[in-house]
Amino acid sequence: MASLPDRAQVVIVGGGIVGCSIAYHLTLRGWKDVVLLERKQLTSGTTWHAAGLVGQLRATHNLTRLAQYTTELYATLEKETGQATGFRQIGSLALAASEGRFEELKRGASMARCFGLEANVLTAEQAKELWPLMNTEGLLGAVHLPRDGQTNPIDTTQALAKGARSRGARIYENVKVSEILVTGGRATGVRTPKGDIHAEYVVNCAGMWAHELGARAGAAIPLHAAEHFYVVTDAIPGLPRHLPVLRDADACTYIKEDAGKLLVGWFEPKAKPWGMDGIPESFAFDTLPDDLDHIEPLLAAAIHRVPALSGAGIQLFFNGPESFTPDNRYLLGETPEVRRLFVAAGFNSIGIQSAGGAGKVLADWIIDGHPPMDLSDVDIRRLMPFQRNRRYLKDRTVEVLGLLYAMHWPFRQPESARGARKSVLHDRLAARGACFGETAGWERANWFAPQGVSPAYEYSYGRQNWFAHSAEEHKAVRERAGLFDQSSFGKFVVEGADAEAVLNRICANDVAVPTGRVVYTEWLNERGGIEADLTVTRESETRFLVVTAAATSTRDLAWLQKNIPSDARATAFDATSGYAVLGLMGPRSREILSRLTDADISNEAFPFATSRIIDLAYARVRASRITYVGELGWELYIPTEFAQGVFDAIMEAGEPAGLSLAGYHAMNSLRMEKGYRHWGHDITDEDTPLEAGLGFAVAWDKKVPFIGREALLRQRHRGLQRRLVQVALRDEGPLLYHNEPIWRDGELVGRTTSGMFGHTVGRSLGTGYIARQNGPVDADFVRSGRYEIEVAGTRVAADVQLRSFYDPGNLRVKA
Ligand SMILES: Cc1cc2nc3c(=O)[nH]c(=O)nc-3n(C[C@H](O)[C@H](O)[C@H](O)COP(=O)(O)OP(=O)(O)OC[C@H]3O[C@@H](n4cnc5c(N)ncnc54)[C@H](O)[C@@H]3O)c2cc1C
Repeated sequence: MASLPDRAQVVIVGGGIVGCSIAYHLTLRGWKDVVLLERKQLTSGTTWHAAGLVGQLRATHNLTRLAQYTTELYATLEKETGQATGFRQIGSLALAASEGRFEELKRGASMARCFGLEANVLTAEQAKELWPLMNTEGLLGAVHLPRDGQTNPIDTTQALAKGARSRGARIYENVKVSEILVTGGRATGVRTPKGDIHAEYVVNCAGMWAHELGARAGAAIPLHAAEHFYVVTDAIPGLPRHLPVLRDADACTYIKEDAGKLLVGWFEPKAKPWGMDGIPESFAFDTLPDDLDHIEPLLAAAIHRVPALSGAGIQLFFNGPESFTPDNRYLLGETPEVRRLFVAAGFNSIGIQSAGGAGKVLADWIIDGHPPMDLSDVDIRRLMPFQRNRRYLKDRTVEVLGLLYAMHWPFRQPESARGARKSVLHDRLAARGACFGETAGWERANWFAPQGVSPAYEYSYGRQNWFAHSAEEHKAVRERAGLFDQSSFGKFVVEGADAEAVLNRICANDVAVPTGRVVYTEWLNERGGIEADLTVTRESETRFLVVTAAATSTRDLAWLQKNIPSDARATAFDATSGYAVLGLMGPRSREILSRLTDADISNEAFPFATSRIIDLAYARVRASRITYVGELGWELYIPTEFAQGVFDAIMEAGEPAGLSLAGYHAMNSLRMEKGYRHWGHDITDEDTPLEAGLGFAVAWDKKVPFIGREALLRQRHRGLQRRLVQVALRDEGPLLYHNEPIWRDGELVGRTTSGMFGHTVGRSLGTGYIARQNGPVDADFVRSGRYEIEVAGTRVAADVQLRSFYDPGNLRVKA
């Protein structure tokens, strides 16, 4: 074998389908100095034994686009490289054996329409015509995706490798990377037994080994392996060829026809984590012991759907490991801890169908220095550092494997590995009936069960069991006062003589304000896209408090630190654990607060968007007059050890004023009425403040020009061809979640990005973007249309406007 080079532009670690796809796409963009290192042979990890299903419909818009791209790529790869791939576009059929499942599939088919993916809703009888061996008992219907496919994972990987090699990539087998080299917080190469390779970029595509390899370099790659089972039957006489892939998610089963046999695999609700004692050094093309007891009930369900299976002999019981992540979405992008160390791993059983798209966007990300589209669903920066904890991962993995086929109910919460992060008020909230949900590992009260009601979810696509209770919390906030535990906020302190200048370059709004002012701002990238949405409070001449959502705190801290120049006299640190936060919101919040403090909290002395440290009960707390619910109110930042005392005092003082505890579902309903945006849904790095209607928070002419200003100026000049709008259904029945198509005068113009019922306006609300090909989306365009929102295949009349449906003039907030 040729000796290794001592330097390369990019070193990719891992020769599974994902590593090879990245090499393929880097070279496709013209980067030739690409080295891929594989510890054994290409595909010898997980790739070789995949079932090879290539589906296209994913939970979100951009992930579906990536899966669509994969299909297009695999369809042409053989022609391009001369290497057969075995790709066949035979379609897929997703079955519904329950009302909930059928609604989920129909909503998915509606979403597919938003991006030109053919998805047909069928009756059970029509489905049987496509799959004659199927027993339709208990079936309500199906969705057919004619352009889904299946492929041979080994051959497809070899084709990607061949394509990469033909354009200059060098691929070395039997070279194990022992260490990723890091200097000054930046990846600088890899160490192997055959020598070091210095590199500008390192990409960790080491599959289930990626966690360990990342950890040694100081980067958290939260994934864990689990056993994954399928069987292959003997040849079944008379089996029709080219049957679409069958997904019977209610039975946790998928079935594909292959060369006259059936391959039957499962995503069972309780999986078996694997590799707790480490992965054997010799592991290559290995299988794990079969476990008939484990698969027997699953096999029975498959036989019920396809009775021909009962007579067929089993040629192969297969069990192989695959990596899973805590939220069942893969890990992509630059690690927040180590610059220029990229990762593409943790593919949760969809690595074959994801590899094309993931390889393309990661190559773009490396070459261009930023992701080519909103990839927040899979961006590794969505995860928290603690999530690399092995015990947490093992316990969560038991549940995660099954989630692929579980019902994706709105508001569904994980059931495993709970209780990792708790606010100091947790037990007090639990004692008062809180039903908790999980965000970024935090347990957060989503709603409160009144006495006699169990604080547990009963899921559906309709009004769930907490709907009326949450409506009461909502009402309390609008009419009296509500108390939210918002301790999960990410809180960063930026300090130093240059703190103002540094932040003013990062923030689109102006933070050169007097001490005690709270500034709502976006952080933009060079393209004008919104990287973060948060508040910055000036605490002193040289100190600022940045407050952001729990879910984005890793990402936002990484962005902040990356954008502090090395020679600036400013540092940023994470103070999240130091403060609990209580949001006291509603028209009577002033009255309640005034019972507990001597500070003057009148509107004149303590106006909106200001912040002060005040005495409160026995504590000194930072009170900030700011809101995410659209009412008079204060966020109280309380040193953690004082929070319980302050909470008790507020609850007592609030009782005569009708104070109610309120949860995150109520907050979501309140913010939707007010039209407040939510990063990750309504605003992402693809959307600009102008498109999102946040131009009021852009300080165009401040002293320090902000990142993204030039791009925004260009867009302002050009005019807007897409804009964020507020949506309210005219029909009371259906509920919106997100990704529902928006029709204007019979033409598809966009999709919703958020949805929730607004209890004060009494309507189903949505936020979404509408676009126009030839001309600007201005107030006239928005006003003059007749709108419908498509919900599970049915179009529902809606009102669409630019202003919020509740208090557009901000009178309540400034009261
Ligand atoms: C039973 C089963 C069925 C599946 N069916 C499907 C399906 O139908 N459709 C689908 O989309 N997905 C399916 N999958 C999932 C799919 O196989 C994986 O998601 C995909 O193969 C992951 O590819 P990868 O490149 O990330 O990982 P891998 O294929 O595991 O590649 C990682 C490579 O890195 C190498 N490596 C590790 N450490 C080092 C090191 N230090 N130095 C050098 N090299 C290193 C390993 O040897 C390995 O070859 C299935 C998985 C299983 C287990």
